[in-house]
Amino acid sequence: MSDLTTHGEAGLAKGAVDLQRYGHALMGTFGVPMRVLARGEGSYVWDADGNRYLDLLGGIAVNALGHGHPAWVEAIATQAATLAHASNFFATEPQIALAERLLDLAQAPTGSRVFFANSGTEANEAALKMARKTGKGTIIALEGAFHGRSTGALAITHKEAYRAPFAPLIGTVVFVPANDEDALRAAVAEHASDLSAIFLEPIQGEAGVKPLTHAYLALARELTLRHQALLVLDEVQTGVARTGAWFAYQLHGIQPDVMTLAKGLGGGFPVGAVIAFGAHAGALLGKGDHGSTFGGNPLAAAAALATLRVIEDEQLIAHVKAVSAHLRERLEAIPGVVEVRGEGLLLGIGLATPASAEIAQAAVAAGFIVNPPSPDTLRLVPALTLTTAEADTFVAWLESHAAHHPFTGEGETT
Ligand code: PLP
Repeated sequence: MSDLTTHGEAGLAKGAVDLQRYGHALMGTFGVPMRVLARGEGSYVWDADGNRYLDLLGGIAVNALGHGHPAWVEAIATQAATLAHASNFFATEPQIALAERLLDLAQAPTGSRVFFANSGTEANEAALKMARKTGKGTIIALEGAFHGRSTGALAITHKEAYRAPFAPLIGTVVFVPANDEDALRAAVAEHASDLSAIFLEPIQGEAGVKPLTHAYLALARELTLRHQALLVLDEVQTGVARTGAWFAYQLHGIQPDVMTLAKGLGGGFPVGAVIAFGAHAGALLGKGDHGSTFGGNPLAAAAALATLRVIEDEQLIAHVKAVSAHLRERLEAIPGVVEVRGEGLLLGIGLATPASAEIAQAAVAAGFIVNPPSPDTLRLVPALTLTTAEADTFVAWLESHAAHHPFTGEGETT
């Protein structure tokens, strides 16, 4: 499998040399990277030493079309040669077309509006500003929530290890346990007069692929309507066909007041978006309330438009549902897999033992990139174009790994 190239005086492989350079030049925010990646094609990536991996992480739910999709590459190249960037003192056709397309896909009512950012964090920052503009100050967010690392988005992110070094964070944020309807009712009742927004991820990806129930989402919708608060759905990870619907809320028959998007929207090009549903939400941010140099630039908009077009042309929503159902069935049959959570190609493989980090490491060594968001969960967020045959190669590996290193919790564990 390896086409090993050596480099440098110590005779180290190129990847090892590159990792040393990384360590000397980049801040340590991400720890030591697993590999140095050099290129990608479809659902595969190759590292700096020529080793191939099936990419079941997709840049964490970003490379929606896989790597190097010809239509996406061509759209970016054409737009780069035409008009790569313009300030927001000017409008561009791709920016307008992308906003129209998103409103259309979201089935957003008259008066709905879009704001473009460059990432999920920034999209959530804009949504936080919208919450502030309601004139009320309290936000309800969920235990396990992840909304980003800027100080605003961090204020509604739950993990103490991320928050503590940067306290105090903005505003009044009340965290409630996910899917606990009584706790949500109680928190809303306590803060009713000052409640600006409830922020929810329809499936908590970073917490370990934990879906909110239909009833819980419906209750959040009902309570926010009753108290004139915003229901903000963070669909940064779940949006853009990832769950087998254009947006996850469409699986639940509700519509939010605000939705944030990023990750898969650009198919690998950085772009974020906020969709405000209806005239009230659509008018919360007015002239001078927010801005972004790069947000909605024509290059990013062209990449996003190409991503949406390919998803539609290649009928990837139906494909995602089919591959997901197949994967689920096969994964659930593996000893030590207690459940498979999530929707579409945002899947969490729940393990009987906290073996996910070790399995993910063994998987990479065997040529499969998966990620352990929690000690007992492996996450799969591959390209929406992943084929059943590709998925099967990973299932076969996991079956064989489970046979040799059982994670059933009975007897020997990895
Ligand atoms: N919201 C959710 C649900 C996410 O999963 C993430 C990233 O993992 C973010 C927000 C932050 O997005 P970004 O890293 O693009 O700023």
